[in-house]
Amino acid sequence: MALEKINNRVMQGIGASPGIAIGQVRITDRSRVVVHERAVAKEQLPEEIERFRTALDKAKEDLKALKKQLAVDKGEEHLYVIDTHLLILEDGMLVKETLGFIENDMINAEAALKKTLRKFQAFFAGIEDEYLRERCGDVETVVERILRIMAGKFQESLNAGEGQSIIVAHDLSPADVLQINKVKVIGFVTDLGGKTSHSAILARALEVPAVVGLERVTSEITDDDVLIIDGSTGLVVINPDRDTFQDYLRRKQHYEYLESELLKIKDLPAETTDGHRVVLKGNVEFLEEIPSLKNHGAEGIGLYRTEMLFFNREALPGEDEQFEIYSAVVRAMAPQPVTIRTLDVGGDKFVADLNLEDELNPALGLRAIRLSLRQPEIFKPQLRAILRASALGKVRIFFPMVSGVGEIRAVKAILEEVKQELRNEGITFDEWIKIGIMVEIPSAVIIADLLAREVDFFSVGTNDLIQYSLAIDRTNEHLSSLYEPLHPAVLRSLKMVVDAAHAAGIDSCICGEMAGESEYLPILLGLGFDELSMNAVSILRVKKILRRCSKSEAEKLVARALKFATAQEVDLFLKKEIAALFSESKV
Ligand code: PEP
Ligand code: MG
Repeated sequence: MALEKINNRVMQGIGASPGIAIGQVRITDRSRVVVHERAVAKEQLPEEIERFRTALDKAKEDLKALKKQLAVDKGEEHLYVIDTHLLILEDGMLVKETLGFIENDMINAEAALKKTLRKFQAFFAGIEDEYLRERCGDVETVVERILRIMAGKFQESLNAGEGQSIIVAHDLSPADVLQINKVKVIGFVTDLGGKTSHSAILARALEVPAVVGLERVTSEITDDDVLIIDGSTGLVVINPDRDTFQDYLRRKQHYEYLESELLKIKDLPAETTDGHRVVLKGNVEFLEEIPSLKNHGAEGIGLYRTEMLFFNREALPGEDEQFEIYSAVVRAMAPQPVTIRTLDVGGDKFVADLNLEDELNPALGLRAIRLSLRQPEIFKPQLRAILRASALGKVRIFFPMVSGVGEIRAVKAILEEVKQELRNEGITFDEWIKIGIMVEIPSAVIIADLLAREVDFFSVGTNDLIQYSLAIDRTNEHLSSLYEPLHPAVLRSLKMVVDAAHAAGIDSCICGEMAGESEYLPILLGLGFDELSMNAVSILRVKKILRRCSKSEAEKLVARALKFATAQEVDLFLKKEIAALFSESKV
């Protein structure tokens, strides 16, 4: 039955990758393989198991072939996702559980695999953290690949359509997104997905506009519809009327103009009008984010969060596996430096494999560096892997949630032991590797002068520093209005950290979200931070403002801002000052 044509209908989804696309729809059937359970006689079980194993092998072969092809087409940086899927395929649990269902329940391989998937899904559904929940999507993608092989189902390439199109799909796997040719596919929308799914991360990294989580978009749209998608707001307009079309065309042109204007300053120095340089770097969690960082002129990685490697696994990653990934990041970013943070789990970042006990108050529990010091069998391989990677490029290492001098001294003692082991084994590493700490606990701020004698740099984690200073849970949406980066206590803390760092002659950086919010730039500049690290898309916006500021004016602004008693007063003052500062040409 033909669907009635819907005109100018707006749907709200999740903006997964910014940018506006306007174009013809191409619906692609990425629908799930339908699985029916059937009983298998005992004597046919070996055959069923063989069928499953053959499909597994074929899935591995396909992924390896895809990896080779993508390495040629798109370069090494994005291949991490394919590796994740290969790891899932090789994961003992997926295979063991499925074989168990085939043999014990005496059912077909497809149904057994689905049962295994349901077990995984039930486990992931209980996880609060959105990012971690989304990792289940990777397992689903892999299971779907195996099921398609068993069903002999072939999938048409997303780039196959004539002319340019916006892909509409129930879901897209990361491998699908990786294969997108931007000349043919100008954007995509899906029923499923969240902001932190691998597909969304890749869409951002490849800079393809995308809206996900629309729930019913595939059933509302037909192939001859025209769509507008706004990847920043998550809005999708189906068959826009003339005015809406014109309006979005203007917005698209404006967005592209701003982006192209920003790109013009990509290679210009991050320098104020009075000649002061601030280093602008990027925060990453995945290798595939690096091309986007480079496109936005990052001068290195200021925060590489390694905990993502530890999530959702039966066994924790060993030294060699970590070394491979760290070296890939170092190579991909070379010659720019990479600052690697050791494992920061606990609190809102939960790793099932570590079998951590439930804590009444995890944000104040056994987390981050406390955990690493308690479990050297996890900490030491990570240090060894980072040190080994330091032989391949510029690497700095830093430690999360340090609260006092005792902790950093204990860390340094272990680091020294590990260095000695490597020397004894004749393994090269950077003997002069710089070490730093995240300053994100109020005690570290108060004794910043003492800590500054122990390390080569500070990096302020404002996300946690604000949480712990104001006693506001950073993940509690009901308290978000009380989460105040401009709270006088926060501003004073930032000042204490920079002053202590500079008095000791070490660098002061910020890698919390505050660094990427351009309205705070004049304050951070005036306070004297040497380095700001943020997500890729913020870098040029921050640079643009920085290039219009003068350091001496920013210092005067900070002196005045520090006199206010409330965050609201500081905010109002800042808005007025910034408006005056940029009155001739708006940013
Ligand atoms: C921070 O706390 O500001 C930070 C950068 O670390 P994370 O967000 O990973 O806790
Ligand atoms: Mg933190």
